[in-house]
Amino acid sequence: MLFLSQAQELFFFHDVSPGSCFFMPKGAHIYNTLTDFIKSEYRRRGFSEVVTPTLYSTSLWERSGHWEHYSENMFTVTCEPHTFALKPMNCPAHCLMFEQRVRSWRELPIRWADFGALHRNEHSGALGGLTRVRRFCQDDAHIFCTPEQLEEEITACLDFVRSVYRVFGFSFHCLLSTRPVPCLGEPALWDAAEQQLESSLKQFEEHWELNPGDGAFYGPKIDIQIRDALGRQHQCATIQLDFQLPIRFNLQYTGADGQMYRPIMIHRAVLGSLERMIAILAENFRGKW
Ligand SMILES: [Zn+2]
Repeated sequence: MLFLSQAQELFFFHDVSPGSCFFMPKGAHIYNTLTDFIKSEYRRRGFSEVVTPTLYSTSLWERSGHWEHYSENMFTVTCEPHTFALKPMNCPAHCLMFEQRVRSWRELPIRWADFGALHRNEHSGALGGLTRVRRFCQDDAHIFCTPEQLEEEITACLDFVRSVYRVFGFSFHCLLSTRPVPCLGEPALWDAAEQQLESSLKQFEEHWELNPGDGAFYGPKIDIQIRDALGRQHQCATIQLDFQLPIRFNLQYTGADGQMYRPIMIHRAVLGSLERMIAILAENFRGKW
């Protein structure tokens, strides 16, 4: 892959910024073509794009729980007297956007997409090519919906994944990962969410398996594994439910009955990291772009 990228002048890495890729014009063309493809799907599928900051005060990461659970993977920047950190994911910023004003059930589902640059502090020993980087971009989006809308949203996410992977000629299968021990949240909420994910998968009529106990502590998820032309498996797309961030940010909407309710948050990506997807596509098509 590195040989191919040099021969075709696609991209390179440099010691001055380990784990961050320099895309040359041809590499950037591939990068932008993938992004434009996803953006055109967003317009058809009711997603709106948002643009959010890269640097946030640690107070945001304390609120989201990242400071407690993820800080060793985050780059911090001290600017006396404050400490900031580069975002490793977009979710907390989208929660801040949701809570900017009172939300009504009429506005839901809200589907916000963000191509913002993310930074994660992978140990330098783990860095290698485009598959393990410190700076990357995802076709990331968050959906805020009511519990009643969940099944339809999951079905639409699965359809999105299938239509994109068909274009690339990838076959795939899905894994439904259910509640781990311990997990956070009401058992009744987990029961309902897992049933809705399962129901969406059954309607989807693609191969899927149960992966008991492998969900995140904050919600169940569907992982999609692709098989490339060389028969290798990659996990790129993910659809994760989150009951916890809406609680941490106290996100609420007014229901049709005037009562306040908590939305469900869905984290989802189709390509996953654009950098990693470019590496997979390069090998899959052997550089015949
Ligand atoms: Zn997220």
